[in-house]
Amino acid sequence: MVKERFTFVFSPETYDKPITYHLVKDFDLKLNILRAEITPGEEGHLLAEIEGEEDNLRRALEFLAAEGIEVIPTHRQVTVRQEECVHCGACTAVCFSGALAMNREEWKMEFRPEKCIVCGLCIEACPLRIISVGFGGGKAGEA
Ligand code: SF4
Ligand code: SF4
Repeated sequence: MVKERFTFVFSPETYDKPITYHLVKDFDLKLNILRAEITPGEEGHLLAEIEGEEDNLRRALEFLAAEGIEVIPTHRQVTVRQEECVHCGACTAVCFSGALAMNREEWKMEFRPEKCIVCGLCIEACPLRIISVGFGGGKAGEA
């Protein structure tokens, strides 16, 4: 048995696919949806914890890829070189999970890694390119 977290990224063409049904019925997986934002006709994200037999999980991920759904393992993590941040807020505009948010009293951008679903949208949004995504290791949220 394995238990892992993933972010599923849906395109406007795949947002209405019944993937939770297939994961449960076809691959005998348990699904715990932690966060979801799906808008018809737009890109959508779903953060879920999946538990089941390793082989079933592997086959399920292959199935999702064939269906055109991007799957991001959340052991990848986002880092922000916060000492270089100019607190412009551009990254917060694309961060639907609320991991990047402006503290409006101090007018400072604050990063809460525990809310991040590693969708990667903030990377391009930052004009200084000080946000990156990589694989674990250090303390989440810091460069
Ligand atoms: S990758 Fe960036 S935009 Fe996406 S949830 Fe994490 S901090 Fe927010
Ligand atoms: S977009 Fe870049 S510089 Fe602007 S607040 Fe976000 S991390 Fe800081």
